[in-house]
Amino acid sequence: MTKHWTIKHAETLLNEPFIELMFKAQQVHRKYFNPLVIQKSTLLSIKTGNCPEDCKYCAQSARYKTGLKTQGLMQIDEILINAHKAKANGSSRFCMGAAWKHPQDRDMPYLENIIKEIKAMGMETCMTLGHLSDSQAKRLAKAGLDFYNHNLDTSPEFYNKITTTRNYQQRLDTLNNVRNSGIKVCSGGILGLGETIKDRASLLVQLANLPKPPESIPINMLVKIKGTPLENNEIIEPFEFIKTIAVTRIMIPASHIRLSAGRNQMSEQTQAMCFMAGANSIFYGCKLLTTSNSAEDKDIILFLKLGLKLENNQKNNESSIPNEILPNEQFYDATL
Ligand code: SF4
Repeated sequence: MTKHWTIKHAETLLNEPFIELMFKAQQVHRKYFNPLVIQKSTLLSIKTGNCPEDCKYCAQSARYKTGLKTQGLMQIDEILINAHKAKANGSSRFCMGAAWKHPQDRDMPYLENIIKEIKAMGMETCMTLGHLSDSQAKRLAKAGLDFYNHNLDTSPEFYNKITTTRNYQQRLDTLNNVRNSGIKVCSGGILGLGETIKDRASLLVQLANLPKPPESIPINMLVKIKGTPLENNEIIEPFEFIKTIAVTRIMIPASHIRLSAGRNQMSEQTQAMCFMAGANSIFYGCKLLTTSNSAEDKDIILFLKLGLKLENNQKNNESSIPNEILPNEQFYDATL
């Protein structure tokens, strides 16, 4: 039976001494995963900017002057070229994001086509498109979508300090529609929004106590974007960030935890400790949706230093995806 977590439980863990917490997280992590294996996804923005929502951290909200170059829906051919490059670089999952409040029904055939084409390449697919109705989730599931990303971002208590154009329950409703459709759930949060430790505990409790926790949990470090209301937020202390990864691992032991936005502002040592604390997935590529990511060659070097390997999800196409670290030159020859 799944444990029912309380905010007090989670807060107690977050306040444990760093060394104790790391030890506990490592024990849990090793029970469920090979600690040397990291899953790698590539993320592409298929519609950028002009979003009607007001998420205070986001460059894509139409409300903030961030200088972001907006872009309408990307042509399918261009998306497929990017997916092929991601596959050639060892990504097992291709994630696509559109800055919408929700997709319109007229967008569904376009989305279904993309999913089918990328699945035919032997890659897993993930999309993040805003709210999904029950029927939209079922259509995407039928087209073969593997994962749907919809982050809770922060605690229910702090949520309206970050976003006012929707509420927490709407987020949970979409997660519920996604889960009921059979698509796997990707949902996590952002640290450094100005939340308290109790808010972090409360976010983790929300995720851990879902009827079935998300299979994939992105933990983002706020990337402060000029022009957004959070541009002057204090940077989260790296140990606080690592501890939150460790508590996520302990509370949601069997899920992949993804080091997501903010990785390029972390030292190698911070990233290494995140992997030790239980993070076992990354976004790979120079760019996340609109913010820069850790450069690929830096990732390759870090993986080699730490002796980490890539997870291979592609049972149907094993020959084309490396399932362990390749010799250096093969990585350097790869082009994105
Ligand atoms: S986080 Fe998503 S929903 Fe919020 S403003 Fe950015 S693109 Fe829109």
